[in-house]
Amino acid sequence: MRLLATCAAFALAVCTAAAATGSPDNPLLQPSTLPFGALPFDRLSDSDYQPAIEAGMQAQRKEIDAIANNAAPPTFDNTLVAMEKSGRLLDRATGAFGVEVSTNSNPLLLHVREVVAPELAAHEDAIYLNPRLFARVATIYKRLGSLKLDPESRHLVVTYYRRFVHAGANLSPKKQERLRQLNQQLATLQAAFERKLLAGTAAGALIAKDASQLAGLGDSAIGAAEQAAKAKGDPDGYLIPLQNTTQQPALTLLQERATRKELFENSWTRTEKNDTNDTRSTIAQMAKLRAEKAQLFGYKDFAAYQLTQEMAQTPAAVQSFLQGLIGPTRAKAAREAADIQAQIDAGDRHFQLQPYDWNYYAQRVRKAKYDVDDNEIRPYFELNDVLQNGLFYAANQLYGITFEERHDIPVWQPDVRVFEVFDKDGTSLALMYFDFFKRDNKQGGAWMNSFANYSALLGTKPVVYNVENIPKGAPGQPTLLTIDSVRGVFHEFGHALNAFFADEKYPSLSGTARPRDFVEFPSQFNEHWALYPSVLKHYAFNYQTHEPMPQALIDKMERAATFNEGYSMGESLAADELDMAWHSLPASAPLQDVDAFETAALKASGTDFPNVPPRYRSTYFSHIWASGYAAGYYAYGWSEMLDDDAYQWFLDHGGLTRANGQRFRDMVLSRGDSEDYGPMFRAFYGKDPDVGPLLQDRGLTGGP
Ligand SMILES: [Zn+2]
Repeated sequence: MRLLATCAAFALAVCTAAAATGSPDNPLLQPSTLPFGALPFDRLSDSDYQPAIEAGMQAQRKEIDAIANNAAPPTFDNTLVAMEKSGRLLDRATGAFGVEVSTNSNPLLLHVREVVAPELAAHEDAIYLNPRLFARVATIYKRLGSLKLDPESRHLVVTYYRRFVHAGANLSPKKQERLRQLNQQLATLQAAFERKLLAGTAAGALIAKDASQLAGLGDSAIGAAEQAAKAKGDPDGYLIPLQNTTQQPALTLLQERATRKELFENSWTRTEKNDTNDTRSTIAQMAKLRAEKAQLFGYKDFAAYQLTQEMAQTPAAVQSFLQGLIGPTRAKAAREAADIQAQIDAGDRHFQLQPYDWNYYAQRVRKAKYDVDDNEIRPYFELNDVLQNGLFYAANQLYGITFEERHDIPVWQPDVRVFEVFDKDGTSLALMYFDFFKRDNKQGGAWMNSFANYSALLGTKPVVYNVENIPKGAPGQPTLLTIDSVRGVFHEFGHALNAFFADEKYPSLSGTARPRDFVEFPSQFNEHWALYPSVLKHYAFNYQTHEPMPQALIDKMERAATFNEGYSMGESLAADELDMAWHSLPASAPLQDVDAFETAALKASGTDFPNVPPRYRSTYFSHIWASGYAAGYYAYGWSEMLDDDAYQWFLDHGGLTRANGQRFRDMVLSRGDSEDYGPMFRAFYGKDPDVGPLLQDRGLTGGP
């Protein structure tokens, strides 16, 4: 997954504006002397962020006032280009703060986030609800037909106009007043949700008193659990931290049913314990305020308001896409459940399958049916091999780019690695950070973000980071990845590739500044190369024997490729429908009882699949409450339709070749938000996207 920069409208770079507040010694208020304008993480302290963000807002307010109050008539240059150049100090400060607070947080940083969140919401409103500024943008928009502008500049005009309207510029002053209040309340609630979720997830870790409770995990993971408990001040215990999803990786391996049940329940109830980390009232209020916000704009619910920004356009288009998948998914999940129950019944103890048994017995079914198990595969996926010989190799073969590790760029945590990326002709293209390992003070999940976008106007190059939550190997042990983690690494890097190849003039149209349901296309597309034969052969070596992955194991993995996809698609669809249900509430609906609402929403949409719980429960569904995916989680499935279809195009045209990669780079990856997406896809493929390859890829076309 990915978090889009929240202030995508404003480019990030070095600022030379005079600092309005804050100490002149604050490194965020000084121009960067580092390559790529990189941030001086080695010189930043926790007390630097709030004053820098506040100084950044003040500086941008001045820039915006100068544009809005300009006595000269509005022109493309004095209004839109000037806006594109504004806010650079703020972007520098929020970029640095964003990575620290999400990957390396502490109580002070979390407090700062709660303080600045409503201030930032008010700041954005001060720009987009500025009537003089909007009048200038609207004048240029209305004269667009007579202006001599290149296509990207024309697209910038249309984008700004739509952005202003979506932000409320056309509403009456009274409605705008209410909108400002709603936006600030929502920002405060969001920051509270994030704080509670982080604390609830950390507190939900499983503590085992005896290693025997963790039987099946393997020595390396048990060693890591012992270390994790020690780090928490428990010298005798074993700690398994929670990942952000409902299902937990360890549930695949844990032999003790009681331990599985406990771990699953810790996950399921992490933010529903009636304590200070309980998020139920927070999200119920957010849903209600979002419905009211949509009503101000004249939409029947938040989904209808939000989807005008996406490729799908309407809730009806989303539902038609989702509903077409639910039937085949239910059927496949039921076949999988029957296989699992048979596997359970073949054992000594007899019980009915529960969600916490699913993955453990699914592995046994996989072993029995396909003779594949994770413990056999993981030794071939050592992190550094995956990175340098897999991920970088595939990018080199497709796009011609190369990588060189840099040790002179400051990082926010000692494990973070930095690489310079070079283009096919050897010119420097981008700077790339990787923050791989799970930490207790890191937000769950995986994401990509940018400190800087490519912009010809500003002369900036992409500075990008990927964050993962991979459990680090015990001291002296390598970090071995599951197949899912390997795909995750390829996924986030797909977003990075999208940023590297941007060739836009304007920062706010550059790289990953794309709708949710298109932005996951390049990332999910990149996942396909993880198991592509020539790539796999290049990186999958046993970390102890250095033997390549045997062909027999590769063949078995291929035969098992659609195994458990009923479950996997089912948990995603359930989360999709939960998201849509929360954002289909009308403003008149009362504050919801969260658990009752969730149960009813799953049933009504047909995603109450037996023993397949949603990938995220409402109370820890960070995507929709805190990461900009409200009424947008379906974007993963939608983009999967695009990426499976595009991958099919590659297979039909010779597979992994430089020529195919270049075509994809030129026609999709480099295009940013510079044209509409339907035509962009059609130009690449020669037809509209089709759900067939997705159904095929997931094994949803029929028999088991
Ligand atoms: Zn993503």
